[in-house]
Amino acid sequence: MRIGQGYDVHRLVDGRDLVLGGVKVPCEKGLLGHSDADVLVHAVMDALLGAAALGDIGQHFPDTDPAYRGISSIALLKKVGKLLEGQGYRIENIDATVIAQRPKLAPYRPRMAENIAEALRIPAARVSIKATTEEGLGFTGSGEGIAAQAVVLLAGQQG
Ligand code: MG
Repeated sequence: MRIGQGYDVHRLVDGRDLVLGGVKVPCEKGLLGHSDADVLVHAVMDALLGAAALGDIGQHFPDTDPAYRGISSIALLKKVGKLLEGQGYRIENIDATVIAQRPKLAPYRPRMAENIAEALRIPAARVSIKATTEEGLGFTGSGEGIAAQAVVLLAGQQG
């Protein structure tokens, strides 16, 4: 078994869609980034890559590469899933938290988990997505940005 953790932050700006876990969440602002800036999927990808000691998403999908401009992070997650599969890993579970003052994310959590599970070809029951605020404190509290954290457990190779 191998454990991995991921953390990511993106800035909230006008004129962008808010995409979290592959779900377009209604909001007057969206996250800024080279890709669709899906901060949740980025944290999950970094946790997966970290568990396998395969670097990080910046290394696999550089934000200077025009190929990744505006790309769906779910498409990148599929690539990470295939990479791990190719190395003989199996994903035991993923547990992730989105940290945002608003909008309220509870209605979208099941769909986010389904999207992530589908991209990784694992049952949705292996993916847990949670959401919390930071009680108005810090950059998430002020609405400047959204953060996400993820931990994963991989089995395979040595068991
Ligand atoms: Mg990111």
